[in-house]
Amino acid sequence: MVFGALVGDECAEVRRVPIPEIGPDDVLISIKSCNICTYDYQQWLGLRPQQPYPMAWGHEDSGVIAAVGGNIKDLKVGDQVIANHYRPCLQCTPCRLGRNMNMCEGEEAQQFLVKDQYGYYGGYGCAEYRRIAAKHIFTFQNNIPPEEAGFTEPLATVVHGIRKMRPSVGEKALVIGAGTMGLLNAQVLRYYGLDVTISELVEKKISKARSLGFDKVLNPSDSDFASKVRTYTGGKGPDMIVIAVGATSAYDQAFEVAPEGSRLLIFAASFPIPSWSIHPNLVHYKCWEIHGTVGAALSDYCEAVKLLDTGAVNVEPLIEARVPLKDIQKAFELASTQGNYRISVMLP
Ligand SMILES: [Zn+2]
Ligand SMILES: [Zn+2]
Repeated sequence: MVFGALVGDECAEVRRVPIPEIGPDDVLISIKSCNICTYDYQQWLGLRPQQPYPMAWGHEDSGVIAAVGGNIKDLKVGDQVIANHYRPCLQCTPCRLGRNMNMCEGEEAQQFLVKDQYGYYGGYGCAEYRRIAAKHIFTFQNNIPPEEAGFTEPLATVVHGIRKMRPSVGEKALVIGAGTMGLLNAQVLRYYGLDVTISELVEKKISKARSLGFDKVLNPSDSDFASKVRTYTGGKGPDMIVIAVGATSAYDQAFEVAPEGSRLLIFAASFPIPSWSIHPNLVHYKCWEIHGTVGAALSDYCEAVKLLDTGAVNVEPLIEARVPLKDIQKAFELASTQGNYRISVMLP
């Protein structure tokens, strides 16, 4: 079978390995699409030396079941599915406590750091076929496009971060950044009943936010930005701020408009690491809550599948382009072009 591999900085190629054989507790997925995450294209750009080559990259994949193992009763050939990228063991202490699956101590969850028999790292998310234990499968009922189902993992991480912030109906939220993750955050906050204001500099992204029905979109370069934020958020300022851009200016903006008791979520990572200056006395006196988040718990995956399957979150506008696997290098060029939304690699 063919698959996409990252083989060096700015070098992605189509490679070949045998179709995996499944065991009695596995399914074989015929993958239809795999979206390129920041995690992937930052490796392609050479910004993530901690992620080794050659990498059988991809974790935002989606497809249909092509074969099921002998012990599997509740899944069948043709079901539309996604695989849980984290592959939690469900037995270690973090798993039993319902923690984020990226904290799982099980062997399978750590496998991306080990070369397989063909010499590749990674989980083969961008491959014609993928073998996976049936316990890691989520099914969709409504036959949504595979490249939209592929948003399950990023959306689950968004759900996780927002749940940490204890959202409450009628609260005012500010989302800084209208890239893919910013607009996923904004949509989930709106779905949970919050009144969302978005801050974005780039004209293309401002339009995208508006096309998704957000009419409170502000440009942070406006001289009266802070007072406009207060106007849009009921006079006092946002109850909750999601910082979905890894930039010093974004942190500065957030602290400038955060009122007393505001909850702030640091959603994005950036390389090289941005600096931020924060006055500890302000955190103390203003009773700010500053949260970080990465990854998702199993329950967040369940929620993300429902949000996509029912159309509660609209991800179609967040797909910039669909690129066939044979043009994998072009796909990574597009994915790492500033201002672009998700690129979906389509499998043959
Ligand atoms: Zn991702
Ligand atoms: Zn575990």
